Amino acid sequence: MIRATTFAGKTVAVFGLGGSGIAAAQSLVAGGAQVICWDDGEAGRARAEAAALEVCDLKAADWSKISSLVLAPGVPLTHPRPHWTVELAKGRNVEIIGDVEIFARERAAHAPDAPFIAITGTNGKSTTTALTAHLLSHLGFDVQMGGNIGRAILTLEPPAPNRIHVVEMSSYQIDLTPTLSPSIAVLLNITPDHIDRHGTLAHYAAVKERLLADADACAVGIDDSLTASAANRVSPSERLYAFTAGQGARAIPRLYAIGQSLFVHELAGAYASSEQIASLEAIGSLRGRHNVQNALAALTAIRALDDLATAGKAALRNMNDAGEKTVWLPPRLADGLQSFPGLPHRLEQVGRAGRVLFINDSKATNAEATEKALASFDGGIHWIAGGQPKSGGIASLETLFPRIAKAYLIGAAEAEFAETLQGKVAYERCGTLQTALAMAAGDAAASDAAEPVVLLSPACASFDQFKNFEDRGDAFRQMAQEIVGKGGDECR
Ligand code: ADP
Repeated sequence: MIRATTFAGKTVAVFGLGGSGIAAAQSLVAGGAQVICWDDGEAGRARAEAAALEVCDLKAADWSKISSLVLAPGVPLTHPRPHWTVELAKGRNVEIIGDVEIFARERAAHAPDAPFIAITGTNGKSTTTALTAHLLSHLGFDVQMGGNIGRAILTLEPPAPNRIHVVEMSSYQIDLTPTLSPSIAVLLNITPDHIDRHGTLAHYAAVKERLLADADACAVGIDDSLTASAANRVSPSERLYAFTAGQGARAIPRLYAIGQSLFVHELAGAYASSEQIASLEAIGSLRGRHNVQNALAALTAIRALDDLATAGKAALRNMNDAGEKTVWLPPRLADGLQSFPGLPHRLEQVGRAGRVLFINDSKATNAEATEKALASFDGGIHWIAGGQPKSGGIASLETLFPRIAKAYLIGAAEAEFAETLQGKVAYERCGTLQTALAMAAGDAAASDAAEPVVLLSPACASFDQFKNFEDRGDAFRQMAQEIVGKGGDECR
């Protein structure tokens, strides 16, 4: 656990008592602060009481004694309207921060050179964070991963030399972290999302761009217009490490891709050279164009970290025998890409029964995410879709329909999706995931495609039939593994 020593002797209010809120309160208490916790919900308050924290209604608290309000990232700061704790804090000039800010202050106070990579973007944050952490662990470093993925940041080990923190940040968390100052800020992409929480696309983009403000180096994807403009504003330009998974970039960025092959562009005085680092061609956990972007992002961060270490701005020991390079070791990074296990529910390869490949993409709760999945396979897709539909449905996927051998529809979206597919794609209305999987597996095994795919990528929320998308994906994985375990008997 990280002790919040920079708040010693202060009185701090913590609102929002989920995992990260409780961890923040415990960290503050351990660092010597007086902490008052509150949550609008009974369950959160009970959790805090069980953890022996002081629970007190912040409406009745003496705000003149409170120096900071630590807010859980899900609590509205500005949109659709500020939460009542935000109004109270603003009225009393009390700063409003999040748990990552506490981490940042501890790092600044005790280990300012400790390597710290902060990752954001509209899509691909978790994959990029997990991949960056995996690659650095593969090189033999002590890596602490958390934030918006996995563990709350204050439950990790404290920042220290030779220990690399790899932290995923949502825009909500950036909003609550005024002095982040990471070694490396990674900005993947910006597309319209969460506008309900940020008011306008311009405001959302500005929050994301704030990640770059005080970073020693900025790894920025330049495949969309908003991040490309953000990259142009990075100054001085030596801080910028641009990367692109797209074609036809006007300038050669530091890392780029041709198809599935990844390249680095090195500059040495007047000389420049390009070197291939790796190919993602046969890496099942990094299928699809979107994962080219994610892999480039992870590698660009590591390329930048090497420069910072060489310049003495990031405390890292040399990891190769010659003692020249710390983290930029392309052959070993290429090995690390091969062994990346991927994340559950995101194009997760569940197994094979004969020629049939089973893929769990339950995280795809809208058409935009499902588009990435369908685009990752050339054809022979036995597509399981449906659930609680989102507005717009699956009409936007029409250009990818030729890749679908057949669709197997489930849940509340069945009738709507059937109407969209009518006359364009063969489909079956299956009702449940179980029926859909059995039918899809049987048809896939009987097909003459070289590698037929049974793909769960629902383009829908799960709540009509499951607790959440994880529950849906777990059910799919378990049933598919039974088929795989029986050698595909149920496919025949
Ligand atoms: P996040 O943490 O930002 O939600 P994830 O890594 O969990 O992102 O990926 C979630 C989904 O987003 C994936 O299943 C895929 O559909 C889509 N996705 C992942 N990476 C990208 C990317 N670089 N660009 C666009 N979409 C992506």
